[in-house]
Order: sequence, then C-alpha cells, then structure tokens
Amino acid sequence: MTQAMASKVWAAHLLTLFPEMFPGPLGHSLAGRGLKKQLWSLDCHNIRDFATDKHANVDAPPFGGGHGMVMRPDVIGRAIEHLQDSLPDSHDTAFVYPSPRGRLLDQKMARQLSQKDGMVIVCGRYEGLDQRAIEHYQLEEVSIGDYVLSGGEQAAMVILDAVVRLLPGVMGKEISHLEDSFETGLLEHHHYTQPRDWKGLEPPEILLSGHHQNIAKWRAENARDITASRRPDLMAAYMAKKHLDTEDKD
Ligand code: SAM
Repeated sequence: MTQAMASKVWAAHLLTLFPEMFPGPLGHSLAGRGLKKQLWSLDCHNIRDFATDKHANVDAPPFGGGHGMVMRPDVIGRAIEHLQDSLPDSHDTAFVYPSPRGRLLDQKMARQLSQKDGMVIVCGRYEGLDQRAIEHYQLEEVSIGDYVLSGGEQAAMVILDAVVRLLPGVMGKEISHLEDSFETGLLEHHHYTQPRDWKGLEPPEILLSGHHQNIAKWRAENARDITASRRPDLMAAYMAKKHLDTEDKD
C-alpha cells in the first residue's frame, strides 16, 4: 500500500496504455502545485502489465465483426482487481470510464467526485472497453463532450483538472472558485484589469468606483445577462430553481 493510499490524500489511480502521458498538464499550475504539496496523489498503471499472453495483447477484434479493436475484459479485469485489492476498504473511490456515451461532466459532478476519497479512471483506446467489464465493475461512464477523442487519457486529464482544483488547499483562495462559472448556476461575469486605458477602451466605470455593493450588483446582473444570451438552457434551469426556492420559503 502506498503512502497516499494509507493516508486520506485524495488519490487518483489511472489505468492506461500510455502512463508516460501523465502527469502532463496536471503537473503544472494549480493541479501541479497541489500534486507537489501532496494535496492529491496520482499513480498510473500500465494496462499492458496485466496482459498474460506472450505478445501482451490488450485488445481483440469485436465479436460480430466490424472495424477496430475492443479492449479485453480479462486484461482490464485483472488491472481493476489489482487496484481494488490495494485500496483501503474505508476509502470511497469512484470508478470512472471516460466515454463519449457517458453522463456529461459538469461542475456538480466534479464537486461530487472531489468529495470522495479518490478515483480510479480506466482510459479507453481503440473502440473502447468490452461492455461486460463496464457492467461487472459498475464503471461510471463520463463524457467530456459530444465529440470523439482518440483515447481516454485526454478526458481523464480534463476530469481530474476539474476535480482537483476543488480540493481543499489547491486553490489559493478557497472562496475564489465559488464565483466560477456554473458554481452559482450561471456563467461568470466579465473580468477587467490593468491598464485602465487599453487601445482607448475603458472598463465599466462602476468597477473603478470602489463601491463594493454596487460592484457586486453589477457583476450579478452581468452574469445573468451573459447566461441568458449564451446559455438559455442554464438560465431557464436557474430561474426554475429560484422559483422553487421562493416557493419553499413561502
Ligand atoms: N467507439 C467509441 C464510440 O463511438 O463511442 C469511441 C472510442 S474512442 C476512439 C476511444 C476512447 O476514447 C474511449 O474508449 C474513451 O475512453 C475515450 N473518449 C473518446 N471520446 C470521449 C469523450 N467525449 N469523453 C470521454 N472519453 C472519450
């Protein structure tokens, strides 16, 4: 058992055919600093190490014919069971399979995942995993968008980045992410900084007023306007929730 597994550091375990891709972008900036400070841990296992034939095959042609190759359930199964055996029983670990057929990743899901003790992520390649492995290990299929990537590694990086920035201590100011897009149900307001005059363009006057209440009001209105024009679906959900909250109070 590794030190990260024994303590309660939020732990990411990756099953991949390309462990050398990690930490990649996750080794930089917020996530990278958090990793160095051991606010979270990352360990990668090569799926090929769990193949047993002499060519170390991890895939095979699909039953029923067709193009591409499918990742073998026996190889994936040994890799997952190896991880299951090494995780403490007390740990609440999510088992995730990034997949374009999965539930769409959103901020709520990222927050829920950050509240667990960690994640096992099975990175698919080729045509993906044999369905029996997905069902047997009850892997939660998570999509990062309606497009097809060539592998689950890039999706795993996106999922992990969204999750680890929410872990305590990873962001400088705990408060700052509470205003991020989606946290309030709305997209975030516009941002402006130095210089005050850039190419003859000035920031909205109110932001220079020093009047915190008015600034907060402007930002809230700006966030609502942006959400209504860019994401009417989010705005409708926000308004419906507000309506329900008001009814609850009455
Ligand atoms: N044949 C699959 C399909 O049409 O649903 C696509 C397989 S894709 C070429 C290979 C792997 O990339 C998948 O098994 C999955 O792990 C990952 N992947 C591709 N697109 C993804 C997405 N939008 N979200 C999450 N993972 C994705």
